[in-house]
Amino acid sequence: MQQADFGDTRSNWKQREEALLASYAMHSCDAQGREHPEPEHPYRGPFQRDRDRILHASAFRRLSGKMQVFTGDMGDYHRTRLTHTHEVASLARTIGRSLRLNEDLIEAMALLHDIGHPPFGHCGEDVLKECLRDSGGFSHNQFALDLVTRIEQRYTDYPGLNLTFEVLSGQRYRSHKQDSESQMLEIQVVDAADSIAYDSHDLDDALKLGLLEWGQLDSLDLVQRAKRTVRLGDVQTSLRRPLLVHTLLDLQMGDFLQHSSRLLGSLGGLGELSSQEVCKAGVSLGMSSEIEQEKRQLEGFLFEHVYRHPRLVEVRQGAAMRLRQLYRLLVSNPERLPTRVRGWVLDWGIERATGAYLAGMTDRFCDEQYLLLVEMGRPCGVDWS
Ligand code: MG
Repeated sequence: MQQADFGDTRSNWKQREEALLASYAMHSCDAQGREHPEPEHPYRGPFQRDRDRILHASAFRRLSGKMQVFTGDMGDYHRTRLTHTHEVASLARTIGRSLRLNEDLIEAMALLHDIGHPPFGHCGEDVLKECLRDSGGFSHNQFALDLVTRIEQRYTDYPGLNLTFEVLSGQRYRSHKQDSESQMLEIQVVDAADSIAYDSHDLDDALKLGLLEWGQLDSLDLVQRAKRTVRLGDVQTSLRRPLLVHTLLDLQMGDFLQHSSRLLGSLGGLGELSSQEVCKAGVSLGMSSEIEQEKRQLEGFLFEHVYRHPRLVEVRQGAAMRLRQLYRLLVSNPERLPTRVRGWVLDWGIERATGAYLAGMTDRFCDEQYLLLVEMGRPCGVDWS
Protein backbone atom coordinates (compact mmCIF):
# COMPACT_ATOMS: atom_id res chain seq x y z
CA MET A 1 0.00 0.00 0.00
CA GLN A 2 1.32 3.44 -0.86
CA GLN A 3 2.33 5.55 2.15
CA ALA A 4 0.36 8.79 2.51
CA ASP A 5 2.50 11.85 1.97
CA PHE A 6 1.70 14.61 4.47
CA GLY A 7 4.70 16.71 3.49
CA ASP A 8 6.67 18.34 6.30
CA THR A 9 3.66 18.92 8.48
CA ARG A 10 5.69 19.74 11.58
CA SER A 11 7.18 22.72 9.85
CA ASN A 12 3.65 23.58 8.64
CA TRP A 13 2.17 23.95 12.12
CA LYS A 14 5.39 25.46 13.41
CA GLN A 15 5.32 28.14 10.71
CA ARG A 16 1.63 28.69 11.29
CA GLU A 17 2.24 29.30 15.01
CA GLU A 18 5.22 31.56 14.33
CA ALA A 19 3.06 33.66 12.02
CA LEU A 20 -0.01 33.81 14.26
CA LEU A 21 1.08 33.56 17.89
CA ALA A 22 2.67 36.21 20.07
CA SER A 23 6.11 35.58 21.58
CA TYR A 24 4.48 35.14 25.01
CA ALA A 25 2.16 32.37 23.78
CA MET A 26 3.04 28.76 24.57
CA HIS A 27 4.42 27.53 21.25
CA SER A 28 3.90 23.84 20.47
CA CYS A 29 7.54 23.37 19.48
CA ASP A 30 8.53 24.35 23.06
CA ALA A 31 6.24 21.70 24.60
CA GLN A 32 8.05 19.58 27.16
CA GLY A 33 6.63 16.31 25.91
CA ARG A 34 4.73 13.43 27.51
CA GLU A 35 5.48 11.02 30.34
CA HIS A 36 5.61 8.18 27.81
CA PRO A 37 7.50 9.51 24.76
CA GLU A 38 5.66 9.15 21.46
CA PRO A 39 6.60 9.93 17.87
CA GLU A 40 5.11 13.14 16.50
CA HIS A 41 1.81 12.87 14.70
CA PRO A 42 2.06 13.33 10.92
CA TYR A 43 -0.36 16.25 10.71
CA ARG A 44 -1.49 17.33 14.23
CA GLY A 45 0.51 19.37 16.72
CA PRO A 46 0.88 18.06 20.32
CA PHE A 47 -1.92 20.21 21.79
CA GLN A 48 -4.28 19.34 18.93
CA ARG A 49 -3.69 15.69 19.79
CA ASP A 50 -4.40 16.36 23.46
CA ARG A 51 -7.63 18.16 22.60
CA ASP A 52 -8.75 15.14 20.54
CA ARG A 53 -7.72 12.66 23.24
CA ILE A 54 -9.80 14.51 25.83
CA LEU A 55 -12.76 14.93 23.47
CA HIS A 56 -12.79 11.18 22.76
CA ALA A 57 -12.40 10.10 26.39
CA SER A 58 -15.36 8.31 27.98
CA ALA A 59 -15.07 10.61 31.01
CA PHE A 60 -15.69 13.54 28.65
CA ARG A 61 -18.85 11.99 27.22
CA ARG A 62 -20.15 11.33 30.74
CA LEU A 63 -20.18 15.10 31.32
CA SER A 64 -23.47 15.10 29.37
CA GLY A 65 -25.09 13.30 32.32
CA LYS A 66 -23.62 15.48 35.07
CA MET A 67 -25.42 18.52 36.36
CA GLN A 68 -23.86 21.98 36.26
CA VAL A 69 -26.18 23.65 38.79
CA PHE A 70 -29.64 22.31 37.94
CA THR A 71 -30.63 18.65 37.66
CA GLY A 72 -32.01 16.96 34.54
CA ASP A 73 -35.50 16.59 35.98
CA MET A 74 -35.81 20.40 36.26
CA GLY A 75 -36.08 20.81 32.47
CA ASP A 76 -34.17 20.58 29.18
CA TYR A 77 -33.07 24.19 28.73
CA HIS A 78 -30.32 24.61 31.30
CA ARG A 79 -26.63 23.72 31.06
CA THR A 80 -25.08 20.35 31.80
CA ARG A 81 -21.37 19.98 32.59
CA LEU A 82 -20.85 19.12 28.92
CA THR A 83 -22.57 22.17 27.43
CA HIS A 84 -20.87 24.40 30.02
CA THR A 85 -17.52 22.89 29.01
CA HIS A 86 -18.12 23.65 25.33
CA GLU A 87 -19.20 27.20 26.18
CA VAL A 88 -16.03 27.72 28.23
CA ALA A 89 -13.92 26.35 25.37
CA SER A 90 -15.62 28.72 22.92
CA LEU A 91 -15.14 31.83 25.09
CA ALA A 92 -11.57 30.85 25.94
CA ARG A 93 -10.67 30.33 22.28
CA THR A 94 -12.11 33.73 21.41
CA ILE A 95 -9.92 35.36 24.06
CA GLY A 96 -6.92 33.28 23.03
CA ARG A 97 -7.21 34.22 19.37
CA SER A 98 -7.57 37.91 20.19
CA LEU A 99 -4.52 37.86 22.45
CA ARG A 100 -2.57 35.69 19.96
CA LEU A 101 -2.19 32.84 22.43
CA ASN A 102 -2.16 29.11 21.62
CA GLU A 103 -5.78 28.22 20.85
CA ASP A 104 -5.14 24.48 20.62
CA LEU A 105 -3.65 24.44 24.11
CA ILE A 106 -6.46 26.61 25.43
CA GLU A 107 -9.11 24.35 23.92
CA ALA A 108 -7.49 21.20 25.33
CA MET A 109 -7.31 22.72 28.84
CA ALA A 110 -10.88 24.02 28.61
CA LEU A 111 -12.25 20.62 27.59
CA LEU A 112 -10.38 19.08 30.51
CA HIS A 113 -11.24 21.65 33.17
CA ASP A 114 -14.45 20.08 34.58
CA ILE A 115 -13.93 16.44 33.58
CA GLY A 116 -13.38 15.41 37.21
CA HIS A 117 -16.72 16.58 38.57
CA PRO A 118 -18.61 13.84 40.46
CA PRO A 119 -22.37 13.35 40.06
CA PHE A 120 -24.55 16.15 41.46
CA GLY A 121 -21.97 18.89 41.07
CA HIS A 122 -20.62 20.64 44.15
CA CYS A 123 -23.06 18.77 46.36
CA GLY A 124 -21.52 15.45 45.19
CA GLU A 125 -18.07 16.89 45.78
CA ASP A 126 -18.96 17.90 49.35
CA VAL A 127 -20.23 14.37 50.11
CA LEU A 128 -17.06 12.76 48.73
CA LYS A 129 -14.90 15.25 50.65
CA GLU A 130 -16.70 14.26 53.84
CA CYS A 131 -16.52 10.50 53.09
CA LEU A 132 -12.79 10.66 52.21
CA ARG A 133 -11.91 13.12 54.98
CA ASP A 134 -9.45 10.65 56.56
CA SER A 135 -8.27 9.18 53.26
CA GLY A 136 -6.78 12.17 51.48
CA GLY A 137 -9.99 14.10 50.77
CA PHE A 138 -11.54 14.70 47.36
CA SER A 139 -11.28 17.47 44.79
CA HIS A 140 -12.73 17.39 41.27
CA ASN A 141 -9.58 19.07 39.95
CA GLN A 142 -7.39 16.29 41.33
CA PHE A 143 -9.84 13.63 40.15
CA ALA A 144 -9.56 15.07 36.62
CA LEU A 145 -5.83 14.30 36.80
CA ASP A 146 -6.53 10.78 38.14
CA LEU A 147 -8.91 10.18 35.23
CA VAL A 148 -6.53 11.24 32.49
CA THR A 149 -3.34 9.79 33.99
CA ARG A 150 -4.60 6.52 35.49
CA ILE A 151 -8.25 5.60 35.02
CA GLU A 152 -9.00 6.18 31.32
CA GLN A 153 -7.65 3.23 29.38
CA ARG A 154 -7.39 3.80 25.64
CA TYR A 155 -3.88 2.67 24.75
CA THR A 156 -2.06 -0.64 25.12
CA ASP A 157 1.26 0.78 26.32
CA TYR A 158 0.26 2.98 29.24
CA PRO A 159 -2.67 3.97 31.43
CA GLY A 160 -4.40 7.30 30.91
CA LEU A 161 -4.24 9.62 27.93
CA ASN A 162 -0.51 10.47 28.09
CA LEU A 163 -1.23 14.20 27.72
CA THR A 164 1.50 16.79 27.35
CA PHE A 165 3.15 18.33 30.37
CA GLU A 166 1.57 21.71 29.54
CA VAL A 167 -2.05 20.48 29.47
CA LEU A 168 -1.53 18.53 32.71
CA SER A 169 0.19 21.49 34.34
CA GLY A 170 -2.91 23.60 33.64
CA GLN A 171 -5.00 21.11 35.56
CA ARG A 172 -2.37 20.82 38.31
CA TYR A 173 -2.48 24.57 38.70
CA ARG A 174 -6.27 24.41 39.06
CA SER A 175 -5.81 21.69 41.64
CA HIS A 176 -3.09 23.29 43.77
CA LYS A 177 -3.17 27.01 42.86
CA GLN A 178 0.33 27.53 44.19
CA ASP A 179 2.48 26.32 41.33
CA SER A 180 3.63 29.71 40.07
CA GLU A 181 5.63 28.06 37.26
CA SER A 182 2.36 26.87 35.76
CA GLN A 183 0.52 30.15 35.38
CA MET A 184 0.81 30.28 31.63
CA LEU A 185 -1.38 32.91 30.04
CA GLU A 186 -3.37 30.11 28.37
CA ILE A 187 -4.29 28.74 31.83
CA GLN A 188 -5.39 32.17 33.01
CA VAL A 189 -7.60 32.54 29.93
CA VAL A 190 -9.41 29.25 30.63
CA ASP A 191 -10.03 30.28 34.25
CA ALA A 192 -11.42 33.64 33.14
CA ALA A 193 -13.66 32.06 30.49
CA ASP A 194 -14.98 29.55 33.05
CA SER A 195 -15.94 32.31 35.44
CA ILE A 196 -17.52 34.50 32.72
CA ALA A 197 -19.50 31.51 31.42
CA TYR A 198 -20.95 30.29 34.69
CA ASP A 199 -21.91 33.70 36.06
CA SER A 200 -23.83 34.64 32.92
CA HIS A 201 -25.33 31.22 32.25
CA ASP A 202 -26.36 30.45 35.84
CA LEU A 203 -28.30 33.72 35.77
CA ASP A 204 -29.86 32.74 32.42
CA ASP A 205 -30.85 29.24 33.62
CA ALA A 206 -32.22 30.53 36.94
CA LEU A 207 -34.40 33.10 35.16
CA LYS A 208 -35.65 30.51 32.70
CA LEU A 209 -36.48 28.06 35.52
CA GLY A 210 -38.34 30.77 37.43
CA LEU A 211 -35.94 30.68 40.39
CA LEU A 212 -35.33 34.40 39.91
CA GLU A 213 -37.67 37.30 39.11
CA TRP A 214 -36.54 40.16 36.86
CA GLY A 215 -37.13 42.68 39.62
CA GLN A 216 -34.49 41.01 41.80
CA LEU A 217 -31.81 41.92 39.24
CA ASP A 218 -32.30 45.67 39.67
CA SER A 219 -29.78 45.76 42.51
CA LEU A 220 -26.99 44.40 40.32
CA ASP A 221 -24.54 46.94 38.90
CA LEU A 222 -23.49 44.67 36.03
CA VAL A 223 -27.12 44.22 34.99
CA GLN A 224 -27.65 48.00 35.18
CA ARG A 225 -24.58 48.43 32.98
CA ALA A 226 -26.06 45.93 30.50
CA LYS A 227 -29.31 47.91 30.52
CA ARG A 228 -27.41 51.09 29.66
CA THR A 229 -25.63 49.26 26.83
CA VAL A 230 -28.72 47.74 25.19
CA ARG A 231 -32.36 48.83 25.52
CA LEU A 232 -33.71 45.73 27.22
CA GLY A 233 -37.11 47.31 27.78
CA ASP A 234 -37.63 47.88 24.04
CA VAL A 235 -37.43 44.23 22.96
CA GLN A 236 -40.23 41.67 23.13
CA THR A 237 -40.37 39.78 26.42
CA SER A 238 -39.15 36.47 24.98
CA LEU A 239 -35.91 38.11 23.78
CA ARG A 240 -35.09 40.02 26.95
CA ARG A 241 -33.31 37.15 28.69
CA PRO A 242 -31.09 36.11 25.75
CA LEU A 243 -30.28 39.78 25.10
CA LEU A 244 -29.31 40.32 28.74
CA VAL A 245 -27.17 37.17 28.81
CA HIS A 246 -25.18 37.89 25.67
CA THR A 247 -24.74 41.51 26.76
CA LEU A 248 -23.33 40.29 30.09
CA LEU A 249 -20.98 37.99 28.18
CA ASP A 250 -19.94 40.78 25.79
CA LEU A 251 -19.31 43.25 28.61
CA GLN A 252 -17.10 40.85 30.54
CA MET A 253 -15.29 39.48 27.50
CA GLY A 254 -14.73 42.96 26.07
CA ASP A 255 -13.41 44.31 29.36
CA PHE A 256 -11.14 41.30 29.91
CA LEU A 257 -9.71 41.66 26.41
CA GLN A 258 -9.23 45.41 26.61
CA HIS A 259 -7.59 45.28 30.02
CA SER A 260 -5.40 42.29 29.20
CA SER A 261 -4.35 43.62 25.76
CA ARG A 262 -3.25 46.84 27.40
CA LEU A 263 -1.23 44.89 29.95
CA LEU A 264 0.40 42.67 27.33
CA GLY A 265 1.08 45.73 25.16
CA SER A 266 2.96 47.34 28.04
CA LEU A 267 5.32 44.34 28.11
CA GLY A 268 6.63 45.42 24.70
CA GLY A 269 9.17 47.66 26.39
CA LEU A 270 10.76 44.53 27.87
CA GLY A 271 11.38 43.05 24.43
CA GLU A 272 9.96 39.82 23.05
CA LEU A 273 9.08 37.87 26.19
CA SER A 274 8.55 34.12 25.93
CA SER A 275 5.76 32.17 27.64
CA GLN A 276 8.17 31.06 30.36
CA GLU A 277 9.44 34.61 30.97
CA VAL A 278 5.90 35.93 31.25
CA CYS A 279 5.15 33.19 33.82
CA LYS A 280 8.23 34.08 35.83
CA ALA A 281 7.34 37.77 35.71
CA GLY A 282 3.95 36.87 37.26
CA VAL A 283 1.88 38.58 34.55
CA SER A 284 -1.75 38.34 35.59
CA LEU A 285 -4.51 38.83 33.01
CA GLY A 286 -7.84 40.11 34.20
CA MET A 287 -10.67 42.61 34.04
CA SER A 288 -10.73 46.23 35.11
CA SER A 289 -11.27 46.66 38.86
CA GLU A 290 -14.67 48.24 38.16
CA ILE A 291 -16.06 45.26 36.22
CA GLU A 292 -14.33 42.83 38.56
CA GLN A 293 -16.19 44.40 41.48
CA GLU A 294 -19.53 44.27 39.64
CA LYS A 295 -18.85 40.64 38.75
CA ARG A 296 -18.17 39.78 42.40
CA GLN A 297 -21.47 41.43 43.32
CA LEU A 298 -23.24 39.22 40.75
CA GLU A 299 -21.51 36.12 42.16
CA GLY A 300 -22.60 37.01 45.69
CA PHE A 301 -26.16 37.46 44.42
CA LEU A 302 -26.13 34.08 42.65
CA PHE A 303 -24.76 32.40 45.75
CA GLU A 304 -27.49 33.88 47.92
CA HIS A 305 -30.50 33.65 45.61
CA VAL A 306 -29.78 30.77 43.25
CA TYR A 307 -27.33 28.25 44.73
CA ARG A 308 -29.19 28.39 48.08
CA HIS A 309 -32.67 28.41 46.53
CA PRO A 310 -35.03 26.06 48.45
CA ARG A 311 -35.75 24.05 45.27
CA LEU A 312 -32.05 23.35 44.81
CA VAL A 313 -31.41 22.70 48.50
CA GLU A 314 -34.09 19.99 48.46
CA VAL A 315 -32.63 18.34 45.33
CA ARG A 316 -29.14 18.49 46.82
CA GLN A 317 -30.17 16.98 50.14
CA GLY A 318 -31.76 13.97 48.40
CA ALA A 319 -28.74 13.46 46.14
CA ALA A 320 -26.32 13.77 49.08
CA MET A 321 -28.25 11.16 51.06
CA ARG A 322 -28.18 8.66 48.15
CA LEU A 323 -24.49 9.20 47.43
CA ARG A 324 -23.53 8.87 51.10
CA GLN A 325 -25.51 5.65 51.53
CA LEU A 326 -24.01 4.18 48.39
CA TYR A 327 -20.52 5.02 49.65
CA ARG A 328 -21.14 3.45 53.06
CA LEU A 329 -22.60 0.29 51.54
CA LEU A 330 -19.71 -0.23 49.12
CA VAL A 331 -16.91 0.66 51.49
CA SER A 332 -18.22 -1.91 53.99
CA ASN A 333 -18.84 -4.52 51.27
CA PRO A 334 -15.96 -4.29 48.74
CA GLU A 335 -17.15 -7.51 47.05
CA ARG A 336 -20.09 -5.49 45.71
CA LEU A 337 -17.80 -3.19 43.71
CA PRO A 338 -17.42 -3.97 39.98
CA THR A 339 -14.38 -6.13 39.12
CA ARG A 340 -12.27 -3.30 37.66
CA VAL A 341 -12.83 -1.10 40.72
CA ARG A 342 -11.91 -3.97 43.07
CA GLY A 343 -8.57 -3.93 41.24
CA TRP A 344 -8.00 -0.32 42.32
CA VAL A 345 -8.44 -1.25 46.01
CA LEU A 346 -4.95 -2.81 46.19
CA ASP A 347 -3.27 0.42 45.07
CA TRP A 348 -5.56 3.08 46.48
CA GLY A 349 -7.32 1.48 49.45
CA ILE A 350 -11.03 0.76 49.69
CA GLU A 351 -12.05 4.34 50.54
CA ARG A 352 -10.35 6.03 47.57
CA ALA A 353 -11.31 3.24 45.15
CA THR A 354 -14.96 3.57 46.19
CA GLY A 355 -14.73 7.35 45.99
CA ALA A 356 -13.30 7.15 42.44
CA TYR A 357 -16.04 4.71 41.40
CA LEU A 358 -18.72 7.10 42.68
CA ALA A 359 -17.00 10.21 41.28
CA GLY A 360 -16.96 8.76 37.76
CA MET A 361 -20.73 8.22 37.72
CA THR A 362 -23.26 10.41 35.95
CA ASP A 363 -26.24 11.65 38.01
CA ARG A 364 -28.61 9.12 36.44
CA PHE A 365 -26.17 6.21 36.78
CA CYS A 366 -25.64 7.08 40.44
CA ASP A 367 -29.39 7.08 41.07
CA GLU A 368 -29.74 3.73 39.27
CA GLN A 369 -26.94 2.15 41.31
CA TYR A 370 -28.52 3.47 44.50
CA LEU A 371 -31.84 1.89 43.54
CA LEU A 372 -30.29 -1.43 42.52
CA LEU A 373 -27.70 -1.81 45.27
CA VAL A 374 -29.19 -0.03 48.28
CA GLU A 375 -32.92 -0.42 47.78
CA MET A 376 -33.15 -3.67 45.77
CA GLY A 377 -30.10 -5.44 47.20
CA ARG A 378 -28.44 -6.38 43.90
CA PRO A 379 -25.14 -8.17 44.73
CA CYS A 380 -22.75 -6.10 42.59
CA GLY A 381 -22.48 -2.61 41.08
CA VAL A 382 -22.04 -1.96 37.36
CA ASP A 383 -18.86 -0.49 35.87
CA TRP A 384 -19.41 2.88 34.16
CA SER A 385 -16.60 2.46 31.68
MG1 MG B 1 -16.33 25.07 34.81
